[in-house]
Amino acid sequence: TSRALTNRPFIVLIAAASGGGLVAYTDASSNPPVESPQVPARKKVVILGTGWAGTSFLKNLDSSLYDVQVVSPRNYFAFTPLLPSVTCGTVEARSIVEPIRKIIKKKGGEVKFWEAECFKIDPANKKVHCRSEIGTNLDGNGEFQVEYDYLVVALGARANTFNTPGVMEHCHFLKEVEDAQKIRRSVMDCFEKASLPNLDDEQRKKNLHFVIVGGGPTGVEFAAELHDFVTEDLSKLYPTVCKLVKISVVEASEHILTMFDKRITNFAEEKFGRDGIDVKTGVKVVKVSDNAIHMISRSTGETSEPYGMAVWSTGIGTRPVILDFMKQIGQADRRVLATDEWLRVRGCDGVYALGDCATISQRKIMENVSEIFKIADKDNSGTLTVKEIHDVLDDICIRYPQVELYLKTKQMSNFVDLVKESEGNAAKESVELNIEDFKKALADVDSQVKNLPATAQVAAQQGNYLARCFNKMKDNEENPEGPIRIRESGRHRFRPFRYKHLGQFAPLGGEQTAAQLPGDWISIGRSSQWLWYSVYASKQVSWRTRALVVSDWMRRFIFGRDSSRI
Ligand code: FAD
Repeated sequence: TSRALTNRPFIVLIAAASGGGLVAYTDASSNPPVESPQVPARKKVVILGTGWAGTSFLKNLDSSLYDVQVVSPRNYFAFTPLLPSVTCGTVEARSIVEPIRKIIKKKGGEVKFWEAECFKIDPANKKVHCRSEIGTNLDGNGEFQVEYDYLVVALGARANTFNTPGVMEHCHFLKEVEDAQKIRRSVMDCFEKASLPNLDDEQRKKNLHFVIVGGGPTGVEFAAELHDFVTEDLSKLYPTVCKLVKISVVEASEHILTMFDKRITNFAEEKFGRDGIDVKTGVKVVKVSDNAIHMISRSTGETSEPYGMAVWSTGIGTRPVILDFMKQIGQADRRVLATDEWLRVRGCDGVYALGDCATISQRKIMENVSEIFKIADKDNSGTLTVKEIHDVLDDICIRYPQVELYLKTKQMSNFVDLVKESEGNAAKESVELNIEDFKKALADVDSQVKNLPATAQVAAQQGNYLARCFNKMKDNEENPEGPIRIRESGRHRFRPFRYKHLGQFAPLGGEQTAAQLPGDWISIGRSSQWLWYSVYASKQVSWRTRALVVSDWMRRFIFGRDSSRI
């Protein structure tokens, strides 16, 4: 094809997306260029990050409308919920990653990808500064700049050590695929070292003490995976030392899995107790040295325990590039980037932020609720009819997805009672409810509503939402429309982002999973484990990874996990 193109003059006709007409381009060597109407340059969209948020945005964006560039030091997307399975070889690392260039190719290859790290965002000049460090002897290392019209910041977060001394030096983290691979090798190191002939039992016990700091979903899932690996596979290969294995989960609050329903928390604690996993709650790690973990608790005071391997999983912190960006735009006092409900970074033109590096910042709900009630109370009577109350609630839920999520997932007695009361009376048109009661109840919600959780679910939905906004941007600029009933400043062409909570899982090992689904539906046991398998298989980013993950699960059922240290 390339020879044909160079030997003969060629004509390519393309439909000008925005001009509507056909523009003719000819080979310059044979004919002078034909006068053609100017095709407006496509706006430059730069996406930072190829995680859940960035990839979801990229996959759903109509890339023919924009000049799209993606910057990330990782040239693949990783399915993070299966990282704990990678630590013990239940699934292989390569089964849960998809090359970003494959995703781009499926979109028609119009998108450019730069494998580099963004180290500075310059909103004043609409540029990002990037650095590439692939292999030391290769050309191309160094810094470059990328200009943007719209910037989509999806940089995720890093592990949070709370500046605890020794954590960086001595603990493993579980954020990236490389972390999971390192943990897998380290587990095998502990077993091989414990099996050497020149050790006494105390030394063996130390080597085989696995400490997980943080009793959230990641820490708990890793503990469960490790326990399964030890009892199902390693006990057969290391029969003499296996009885010396100890797995401890250290959690600063009073329970593990606090973000789940109490029934799940209790079940998990009891199950871990039965499995011999030592759950230490109300205990804070204050220092990690090369062979002991130092802890403090109200009941036992300061203690220290020798350990073989420690995994630190206590939540997320802010990346330096985001901290620097926040300083530039007057958000230095925050932990993550504040955006409005349309994911636009506050105080910054053309910059959007989504996923773990951002949060939809809530101006206090009550500040705006008064305004919404004032509009609804047209006759200034201080009361609203049932229908009006429902309209107001609709508005508040559109404006504050967190309130809606809160109402759906938790029983907020005061407020829910009022709503139920109004529903019960819905038939009676005349019934009027006192606005002040509702305001009081909402103030209560205000103090309890939390930010959206930092999960893949939120990140993926935000990416999808923002891509749909970008796809409709031009249309909406020409035919603007506002959210139905919200009449206040900050009004936007699009409906605000609304998070749809689809439930969450906590795999607890031994083919048992706890599932908390919308509507407070709780299921624990083997049936939920099968639900977990189906959901995670269906959520894979491609048919290739789906096939790989399912075949890994089958391989594990038939042959067990591979314990080679490679
Ligand atoms: P990430 O997915 O972390 O992506 C960030 C991207 O930015 C990466 O591509 C990274 O390479 C890139 N990047 C970083 N620095 C730079 C830079 N300087 N320049 C350019 N690019 C950069 N959530 C769930 O909903 N369900 C689960 O079961 C679940 N399980 C989890 C298990 C584990 C072990 C972990 C670690 C997380 C889990 N999560 C789960 C949380 C979920 O993974 C995160 O919420 C999600 O990854 C956030 O998406 P993101 O796009 O914001 O960030």
